[in-house]
Amino acid sequence: MGFFSSLFSAAVSAVATVINIAVDVASAVIDAISEEYKNAKEKYKDVDIDGLKKRRFEQLVEVNNEIIDLDRKNRIDGRLSDDDQLRLDALNVERRDLRKRIDAAKEYEVATDMAEHSSDYDINLVDPNNPNELTRLGGQVVMGKLCARCNRPMTIRWRTDVRNPVITDLFWGCTGFFIRGDDNKPICKKTMNFTQQEMRLFGHIGKPGMELPAENLNKIVLKPETSSHIKGKLKEAVYEVTEDYLCPVHHEKMSLRTKSEAVDILDLYFLKCSRCDQMVKIKSATQLDAVLESFNGSGLFSS
Ligand SMILES: [Zn+2]
Ligand SMILES: [Zn+2]
Repeated sequence: MGFFSSLFSAAVSAVATVINIAVDVASAVIDAISEEYKNAKEKYKDVDIDGLKKRRFEQLVEVNNEIIDLDRKNRIDGRLSDDDQLRLDALNVERRDLRKRIDAAKEYEVATDMAEHSSDYDINLVDPNNPNELTRLGGQVVMGKLCARCNRPMTIRWRTDVRNPVITDLFWGCTGFFIRGDDNKPICKKTMNFTQQEMRLFGHIGKPGMELPAENLNKIVLKPETSSHIKGKLKEAVYEVTEDYLCPVHHEKMSLRTKSEAVDILDLYFLKCSRCDQMVKIKSATQLDAVLESFNGSGLFSS
């Protein structure tokens, strides 16, 4: 059980937004986090959390290599030996365990930031007509929100042809949707609507630009001079990886890519797993803001 799920039964994004906060006042949230963080910090005082997380990601690569080898063997031979099957089962368990440990380390990082920079955080109600704080998290890792049907992580999604989504366009989609079964159909199509409670967030206050209507934000980034400015900022980041977007199958970091025949900047970027076809399209200005923050450390309107 992660830091935030045990504290508030809430989900938390890798970029430090708690979704579904059941408390009314920010100070109560901060007190609860600070208290829990103090205990955790004492407990882990001799542990290099960052180093540990790095090692977990490396172990994950090794586990995935072995799983892929066994899958290949299975495809070529049409079956696995009993020993190989046992090994594959053990590897799948290990992968799930590593994923949990990585998520726990990430939750701890988020808690650290919230405890140490509490004045930067506040409770924020999502505007149903302009849910920028939620679209910003589109396709990103959200910890503590699991599919009620298959227990896989869920992500915030909306239809690609909707450029300015309102709250009713958004939904939680199971990441199993992007995994094909033997019949080539998605293995889980579970979706869930946003609840009233999930529109209550605890996150950074006053992210520049996020108060503007999504339509205006999109217009701004589509202006040729803004587009080329953003492209310049992200030039070095193409093919780089970030842990804010992880493959739902392999849990490895996805890398930033560009489409060769993009219509405009809201059709240009996507994140992709190096192992499989899993991808996240960056189709809103708010997501571009998040991508800029992930790779450059500052968003669209921060200097
Ligand atoms: Zn599912
Ligand atoms: Zn993958």
